[in-house]
Amino acid sequence: MPVIISKSFRFEAAHYLPQMPEGHKCRRMHGHSFKVTVRLKGPIDPETGILMDFGDVKKVVKPYIERLDHWCLNEIGEREGIALLQNPTSENLACWLFQELKPQLPDLYSIVVDETCTSRCEYME
Ligand SMILES: [Zn+2]
Repeated sequence: MPVIISKSFRFEAAHYLPQMPEGHKCRRMHGHSFKVTVRLKGPIDPETGILMDFGDVKKVVKPYIERLDHWCLNEIGEREGIALLQNPTSENLACWLFQELKPQLPDLYSIVVDETCTSRCEYME
């Protein structure tokens, strides 16, 4: 019987969305208090009674959060040659995180990026 567990992380970052239409407010540099929720799906281990230790999830995800925190996401995209972060929509950010984390978290089910309290994107394969 599968379960879904999730762990959330917060970071502050600036971005601008160069592909939005001329005059759109998101083309201007602005910031968000982002929340990233990592969701894993799989069976409960009959020995331990858990899917995965939340502490182990944190060990994998934290370095990525620290890499994003208090930066302009577009700058990271340019500096590190990451195409998805050169247009850092919540959709592209969720997609990039999924691709980066999946090899290290085989049970990864989805990544949810909240850019405001009411607006979010969920990426899954
Ligand atoms: Zn924004």
